[in-house]
Amino acid sequence: MAKPISRRSFLTTGTKTAASIALAGLSGGELLAGCISTKSGRGTLQTGFDQTPLPYSYADLEPVIDTRTMEIHYSKHAAAYSTNLKEAAKAEGVAMNQPLETVLQQISKYSMKLRNNGGGHYNHELFWRCMHKGGTALETGQFRNALVQSFGSFEAFQTQLSDAGKNRFGSGWAWLYLDKDKQLRIGSTPNQDNPLMDLCDIKGTPLLGLDVWEHAYYLNYQNRRADYINNWWKVVNWNFVQGRYQVLV
Ligand code: MN
Repeated sequence: MAKPISRRSFLTTGTKTAASIALAGLSGGELLAGCISTKSGRGTLQTGFDQTPLPYSYADLEPVIDTRTMEIHYSKHAAAYSTNLKEAAKAEGVAMNQPLETVLQQISKYSMKLRNNGGGHYNHELFWRCMHKGGTALETGQFRNALVQSFGSFEAFQTQLSDAGKNRFGSGWAWLYLDKDKQLRIGSTPNQDNPLMDLCDIKGTPLLGLDVWEHAYYLNYQNRRADYINNWWKVVNWNFVQGRYQVLV
């Protein structure tokens, strides 16, 4: 857990902090209570500012994603996003006892450091949970039906999301997300942006995220991003993705 904001720093950070509290609908008492924790089980959608434990071991996604890549990705890259996010939040008077989602929805008010690291932390907390040892099966039912209805077939959906990742120039993400009309959409964002951000071209709630930064696959796949993406489907945790969908529709 990050250190709770002290009364002194609360009092001296001034109006920007007060504005954050007002925007988040939080009282000063709640602000002083410290940061919230991520609740990311089936049916919950709230992300905290701290990195949560990986829900499996580094080796569990072999051979799709190798152990060393998972270790560096989680313990170095993703850990740094959380650390730098908390540093930026503290500097900019952003209360850490509100869901990170709330901050991302108004990210245009804050610095590039908060945008990059807030997105980076959120995206990875989601990404880890979108995967599972050996993958989990996509059940027949409302969610699968919605995928088929939206994209033509399950295979067509996979092709479109894979293409979004393969065609992302440089670093970024491919997403399955739900837009404001509760329609399933596929899209891609650069760097650590995501569809929750008010300044993003695509807007909605991410259900499934695919990291196509080179750090996610380079040790095993080098320049072969397409091979990484094609294999990645074998470890998708459909149980988790479907749970997110069911909460929102
Ligand atoms: Mn990454």
